[in-house]
Amino acid sequence: MRGRLVAGNWKSNGNLASNQRLLEQVRAEAPRLRGVECAVCVPYPYLFQTQQLLAGTAVAWGGQDVSQFGVGAYTGAVTAAMLLEFGCRYAIVGHSERRGIFGESDAVVAAKFDAALTGGLTPILCVGETLQEREAGVTETVVGRQLDAVIGKAGIAALGKAVVAYEPVWAIGTGKTATPEQAQAVHAFIRGRIAAGDAAVAAELRILYGGSVKAANAAQLFAMRDIDGGLIGGASLAAEEFMAICRAAGTVTV
Ligand code: PEP
Repeated sequence: MRGRLVAGNWKSNGNLASNQRLLEQVRAEAPRLRGVECAVCVPYPYLFQTQQLLAGTAVAWGGQDVSQFGVGAYTGAVTAAMLLEFGCRYAIVGHSERRGIFGESDAVVAAKFDAALTGGLTPILCVGETLQEREAGVTETVVGRQLDAVIGKAGIAALGKAVVAYEPVWAIGTGKTATPEQAQAVHAFIRGRIAAGDAAVAAELRILYGGSVKAANAAQLFAMRDIDGGLIGGASLAAEEFMAICRAAGTVTV
């Protein structure tokens, strides 16, 4: 039976003082969570602080990106080994902001996925379509292509050690959430695509939904058969809201 996961993506937010307050609240609430793993993906400079505050608790942490390269002359890039040294369990790869703003191709995302996995991290692979693509009716083509790039590079078995996050680009940071039915349809497509390669991997794969999830809509989303938790942006910056989302993932039974 696959577990549930709610991961916060802080993006480029936070400072030492606000992080401390947020992490202390998450740490205090976490022992009351049941049936859900909780994680925070923080900016690189705050990994040390996060490790100091969360080590020994049930809350995991990770990076928001990872280098596709190893050590060497790659200015600005942070390797999987460096993330591991700071206790990271996860690394987000292929977030739509990385794909869109930083121009990361499917091939780069696949290389980052591979580097994270072989480096001992659990990649959280983000996939999702833009509004234009949804309206053109090519959501499955786009998401399928994004998945296939990773499967082609790392192999289907690699998905068994990863997490996938379906994040429709039009729902990220916009306040527009996919309906539970819209999200479920794409989650089922993702699971089916992976099942075509390996049914056991697909059955155990955690597929998160991301896109304007908040405490008010989390339970309906997490009640869907193929939604195993969430990747949470804006709402992960407020401890009460984030923990309410974690609780919604933990208490719902499908
Ligand atoms: C995200 O950044 O992954 C995300 C889902 O953001 P938000 O929850 O703010 O839409």
